[in-house]
Amino acid sequence: MKIGVLSVQGAVSEHIRHLERCSVEAVAVKNQESLNETSGLIIPGGESTTIGKLIETFGLADLIRKRNRQGSLAVFGTCAGMVLIAREILDGIAGQPKLDLMDISVQRNAFGRQKESFETDLDFKSFNFPLTAVFIRAPIIEVASPEVETLAEMPEGIVAARQDNLLATSFHPELTDDLRVHEYFIGMCKNCI
Ligand code: GLN
Repeated sequence: MKIGVLSVQGAVSEHIRHLERCSVEAVAVKNQESLNETSGLIIPGGESTTIGKLIETFGLADLIRKRNRQGSLAVFGTCAGMVLIAREILDGIAGQPKLDLMDISVQRNAFGRQKESFETDLDFKSFNFPLTAVFIRAPIIEVASPEVETLAEMPEGIVAARQDNLLATSFHPELTDDLRVHEYFIGMCKNCI
């Protein structure tokens, strides 16, 4: 099984390293050909508007939507990636590109200026001890449809969630040594082979 990391902008190499540490073949996805080899795709943190424009330009956005909706591609959005997979971006700029996949409404940069970057321990559903989560200008899920399962929450809102073959985290699991969130996603990709 191969899992791709969208490699147009943002925190790519850290995700590739984590997948390899989980003994999965990781593919840097830059075009349709490499995307078609994979059972899962991680959309990394970065700048959601930039990543969104580049995936439209490279002809990747339609293929991601199509394969995810058909059930052959699991998609995991971290931070900017979470913004991109959302159905609704609450404070998006005009013409903000999005993949429109997960039934969530997301607020960008939800933690305010003083809290631009921080680390906190979170209870993540089904994990037997808390996860240290790194937030960097992070978005939050303000509204989720009943089909969406909350995996982790903070007083400000939902910070990790799953809907079928979609996974979203506000934080950056690639920036700690803990592999459990990547392992969780790998489990989801196994249904897409
Ligand atoms: N604030 C960024 C955005 O909305 C996301 C930041 C990140 O991915 N670390 O695109």
